[in-house]
Amino acid sequence: MNNTHQPLDWIDEQLGTLQQRGLCRGLSTRQGAQSVRIVIDGQEAINFGSNDYLSLASDPRLTAAVQSALHQYGWGSGASPLVTGHAEPHRRLEQRLAEFEGTEAALVFSSGFAANTGAVAALAAVGDVVFTDRKNHASLIDGCRLSRADVRTYPHADCDMLERLLAKTSIHRRRLIVSDGVFSMDGDLAPLKELVELAQRYQAMLLVDEAHATGVFGQRGRGAAEHFGLEDRVHVRVGTLSKALGCMGGFVAGTRSLVQWLVNRARPYIFSTAMPAANAAAAMAALDIVENEPRRRVELLARAEGFRARLAGQGWNIGRSASQIVPIIVGEPSRAVALSAALRERGLFVPAIRPPTVPEGESCLRISLTHGHTEEMIAKLLEVLEVHKHNEV
Ligand code: PMP
Repeated sequence: MNNTHQPLDWIDEQLGTLQQRGLCRGLSTRQGAQSVRIVIDGQEAINFGSNDYLSLASDPRLTAAVQSALHQYGWGSGASPLVTGHAEPHRRLEQRLAEFEGTEAALVFSSGFAANTGAVAALAAVGDVVFTDRKNHASLIDGCRLSRADVRTYPHADCDMLERLLAKTSIHRRRLIVSDGVFSMDGDLAPLKELVELAQRYQAMLLVDEAHATGVFGQRGRGAAEHFGLEDRVHVRVGTLSKALGCMGGFVAGTRSLVQWLVNRARPYIFSTAMPAANAAAAMAALDIVENEPRRRVELLARAEGFRARLAGQGWNIGRSASQIVPIIVGEPSRAVALSAALRERGLFVPAIRPPTVPEGESCLRISLTHGHTEEMIAKLLEVLEVHKHNEV
């Protein structure tokens, strides 16, 4: 036996392969607050790479809420919610989220990832079947795996295929359909009208992850289900506090029994420490802003619409984006990385997204617009992109 061989040597080999294929990722570090202007790895940039859609992450009203809660509750919550971690701000936030969402109840998790994995795995088990869109977020995919139910993946937004799969699964006890509301990389909206109809026809539960839609879509900012007028027909609505709401954490909104079931069965809820109470206080301040300043989402979506039209006009492939998330799909990872680097040289931060986050051949730049971007910032991005497009052909 070769004693120089170390058990973790395989990792270096694998990393080398990733490097060769242009797929190895490394961390960049931001100096200072999350905002539309950032300093990242020491370089100033206009930031098109956050999910801070309503520009609340650094809003002084959120920091004030944190400070005041810190005073009363300290920082750490010290235990899981079912022991002593659930404090008054958590309870109030859950009530507030239920009011905001127009549901009987809501439950707060320490991340959106935990909310999705916890909810899916609590709703389906061996003997059940889960139907999942191929482009669903990793947390929904992991929830499916953890559930140990049979999993049927349908091509992105393909409701004909979904129906065929639903029709073939009569031996299962329960069915669950899960979908992102706004897809995180493509920025398109799920075909919710068709999904609710199929759920009804095949007596399936329907879970929609509103992570990128909460605060942005719908008249009151409840998300894609509200946008389509289908809130009452989506049985389980998941949201995150970490994107438009500028905080940290996730939630599930629905009936009282659903929430009671999750308290008893959602493992990331039961076996993980509650988020700091100060974070719950900040999330309530963010909800106040979402409710009182609807112009933030209206302006953001209007600006995004104009931006998409300009990009398409320049000849870029933006897929089916219909939101504040706009991909420029370039295909090969190396092209995405090169374009991202070129933009960065011009003071524009736009991340390159590569497999496994997107399928092979769909590497892209993911442009994320936020309320704080000015017309000038967007014009600069368009101008630089136009030059690149021009040089390419
Ligand atoms: N769902 C979707 C669609 C997401 O994009 C993300 C985060 N990227 C999550 C859930 C997880 O949310 P969080 O960041 O709060 O864990």
